[in-house]
Amino acid sequence: MLQIKQIYKEYKTGNLVQKALDGVSLNLRDNEFVAILGPSGSGKTTLLNIIGGLDRYDSGDLIINGISTKKYKDRDWDSYRNHTIGFVFQSYNLIPHQTVLSNVELALTISGVSTAERKKRAQKALEQVGLGQQLHKKPNQMSGGQMQRVAIARALVNDPEILLADEPTGALDSETIVQVMELLKQVARDRLVVMVTHNPELAEAYATRIVNLKDGKIRSDSCPFEIEESSLGSPVHKSMGRTSMSFLTALSLSFQNLGTKKARTLLTSFAGSIGIIGIALILSLSNGVNAYIKSIEEDTLSEYPLQIQSTAMNLSSMMFDPGSARVEGDSGEIGVTRVLASMFSTVDSNDLEALKLYFDSGESGIENYAKAVEYTYDVDPQIYRLDGNHIRQVNPDGSFSALGIGSGSDSFMSSFMSTDVFYQMPENTDLFQEQYEIKAGRWPEKYNECVVVLTSGGSVSDFLLYTLGLRDADELDAMISQFLSEEKVEVPADIRPYGYDEMIGIAFKLVNAADYYEYDADYDLWRDKSDDEAYMRELVAEGEDITVVGVVQPSDDAVAAMLSPGIAYPAALTEHVMEQAASSQIVLEQLADPGTNVLTGNSFGDEEGESGFQLESLFTVDEEALGRAFGLYQSAFEIDLSDSFHMEDGVLDLADMLDSDQMALELPELPKLSMGDIVGSLNLKVSSKGIHQLTNDLFDGYQEYASAHPEADYSKLNEYFLEYLQTPQGQQRIQESIRDIISSGGGLQPDTSVSGGNAGGGAFQEEMREEFRDLEKDSP
Ligand code: ADP
Ligand code: MG
Repeated sequence: MLQIKQIYKEYKTGNLVQKALDGVSLNLRDNEFVAILGPSGSGKTTLLNIIGGLDRYDSGDLIINGISTKKYKDRDWDSYRNHTIGFVFQSYNLIPHQTVLSNVELALTISGVSTAERKKRAQKALEQVGLGQQLHKKPNQMSGGQMQRVAIARALVNDPEILLADEPTGALDSETIVQVMELLKQVARDRLVVMVTHNPELAEAYATRIVNLKDGKIRSDSCPFEIEESSLGSPVHKSMGRTSMSFLTALSLSFQNLGTKKARTLLTSFAGSIGIIGIALILSLSNGVNAYIKSIEEDTLSEYPLQIQSTAMNLSSMMFDPGSARVEGDSGEIGVTRVLASMFSTVDSNDLEALKLYFDSGESGIENYAKAVEYTYDVDPQIYRLDGNHIRQVNPDGSFSALGIGSGSDSFMSSFMSTDVFYQMPENTDLFQEQYEIKAGRWPEKYNECVVVLTSGGSVSDFLLYTLGLRDADELDAMISQFLSEEKVEVPADIRPYGYDEMIGIAFKLVNAADYYEYDADYDLWRDKSDDEAYMRELVAEGEDITVVGVVQPSDDAVAAMLSPGIAYPAALTEHVMEQAASSQIVLEQLADPGTNVLTGNSFGDEEGESGFQLESLFTVDEEALGRAFGLYQSAFEIDLSDSFHMEDGVLDLADMLDSDQMALELPELPKLSMGDIVGSLNLKVSSKGIHQLTNDLFDGYQEYASAHPEADYSKLNEYFLEYLQTPQGQQRIQESIRDIISSGGGLQPDTSVSGGNAGGGAFQEEMREEFRDLEKDSP
C-alpha cells in the first residue's frame, strides 16, 4: 500500500517558482489500475516521478507499506526503484543497437541475477507481452506499439509491485493503443498500475480508478481509498534491502577491464580483477548507478589509473578464453592448449623514457585529459628496524620467504601475496588526501617521513605490529617455523588495541643498497657484504631515519580509498633512493664500463652460468631504448620470470633497486589480503577457473550474509568480508565451494608440495586438510 501525504513540490528556475504539486494526498491499493488525468502542466508527471522515487518531494511524506521515506538516503531510493517499481515512458527509452532481448535483460543486469536466469526471465517477460518470437530484433526494426511492449516487458522483468506509466500511448496510433492498454490492464490484475494520461476516454475504458489533477491539486477521485489512520500506527523509518550487482556481472565487467590492462602476471591479473569486483560491489551495494557513476568514476580512477608499463603481456586472453588457443585432438588424442603462444604473442615493450620526455616537453596536451600523470619506478627502499643490537629488514619484507610467499619482485606469487608493508604514495597528494582523515600527526612533508594507513575500519593487521616493532618479531618467526615444521602454531593471545600516539615517532633506518657492496682493492672488485652481520649492523645503525609522522584512515564518506593499509612513504623517498644510487661509486663504475661486471671482473657475455635461454629470441626488443635505460629500467618481463631467468652475480640485484614499473598493480586492501587468506591458508594450487568460482561463491555468500544483517554497514567490504570468512557460514561456504570445484572436475587441487599460508590459519588449515583427505577417499 502506498500513501501519499500532503506532498508539495516546487520547481525554481531563476526567479520563477513553479508550483508543481500543491498538497497532494492519495492512498493507492496494492492492486488497482489508476489513471491520473489532467491537462498538460497539471503536475501528473511530477506526481508519478515522486511515487517512483525518480524525483524528491519538498514536504509531506510518501509511505510505502507503512514505511516513511522521509529519511531515505539515495541508496534506499535506488533499492526501492529497483525492487518495487517498473517504469514505462512515452518515449520507450530502448537502446537502439541492442536486441529486444538484451534490452530487457539489461534491467536485470544490475540486480544480481545470473546470466541464465536473466535470459530466461527476459524471454518470459517478452512472451507475456506477445513478443516471444521477436527476441533478436532490434528496436529500430519495430513499430511504436511493439517498442512500447518491449518497454513494458522490461518494466515487468523484475516483477515489480508497482508499474508506473507516463503517457505510454502518447506516441502511438489508435490501433496499437488498444494493444498496449489491454496489456496494461492485464498487468494490473496482480499489481498496482498507475498510468498518466490526458486522454479521458482511455482512462474510462481501462482504468479501475480515475484521479483528476489540475494545477497541482487533486480535483476528483472516482474510487478513493480511505484508511483508518489509527489502525496503521505511525510510519517508521527502515532502510530498504540492498540491490546488488550479480557477481558474475561484476566479474565480466572486471574482465572487460582486464582486456584493456596489461597484466604483469597471471595472479596480479586476478588480484586486479578482484579489486574491480570490489568496486562493483561498492557500486552495487548502493546500486545507484546513475547517482553514483560520476563520483565512482572519479574516485575509482584514482584507485585504478590507466597504466603504461615498459614491458608487459596480456594474459587475459588466455585466462578467460582458453579455448581460443587450443589445438584440438581427435578422440583418443590429447589436445594442447597453447598457453605460451598466447602469452608471448602479446608481449610488448614500450619506450617509457621517450614517453616521459614527450610528456615533460608539454607538447602532448595530456594535462587536458588526465587528472595527474605519475611515474613509478621499481625502487625498493631498503628499510630496516634497529632494536638495540638486533636488525631486521622490514622492506622488502622477507618474513614469509620461508613459506614461498615473497616480497618485492623476487617471486612469481609475490605481487599477489606480497607481504610488503611499505609502498610509495602518488606524488600528487590531491589524488588521495581528501579520501583520508588524519587520526594523529600529519601527512609526510619530507622524504624521510611516512604515515601508517589504517583500514577503513580503523585497524591495522597484526603483521604490521611486528613491522612497527610494537610486538617482538621473534614471535612471528617462531610461528613461521612452527608452521614449517608442522607443529601446532602458537598464536599470541595477548594482542591489544593500540593508541594512535604509540605509532607516531616510530623510526626505521634507510640503507643505500649500493652500500651492501664493498670495494676489494686486491682484486679490483666489489664484494657483496649483505651476509656479513657485523657489517650490516653498522650499516643499518648509520642509516638515515625514516619516521612515522602520522596515522590516517579512509574517511567514512570516501567511496574509494587509494592507499592500501600499511606504511606509505612519499615519492620524494623514491627520488632520494634513486639519487643516492645514481651517485654511488659502484653504480658509476658499472655505468662507465657497461661491458664488464664490476662484481666479477668478467665481461657479461663470458659469464658462466648465464642462462642459455635467450629471452630476446622470443620477442623483439628495442635494444637501443633498453641500452639507454640500462640501470634505470628493467623489463617487467624479466622480473616476472626472475625465478627461471636469474643472473646470479648480483648485477641484477643492484639493477632491481633501480627498476621502473613495479608498484604497477599494487592493489588496495581486500584483494591481496583476503585472497591470500583464502588461498594461502588452504595450501591449494588454484587454477584461474578455480579462483574464479571460489571468489564468486564467496562473494555470493557474503552478499547473503550481508543482507541477513541489514543493521550493519556491510558496504565496508574490506573488514566485513574477512569477518564473514571467519563465520561458520563463511567457512561452510568455503568448504562447499571447494567441494563443488573439485567434484566438477578441477581447477583446484590440494597441494602438499607448496606450503603457502599465513600465520593464524592453522586450525582452519588442518580442518581443510581433513576435508581433502575425505574427499580424496570419496572420489573414484
Ligand atoms: P504534466 O505531466 O501534467 O504535464 P508536469 O508534472 O510535467 O506536468 O509539470 C508540472 C509543472 O511543473 C509545470 O508547470 C512544469 O512547467 C513544471 N515543471 C515540471 N518539471 C520541471 C522542471 N524540471 N523544472 C522546472 N519546472 C518544471
Ligand atoms: Mg507529463
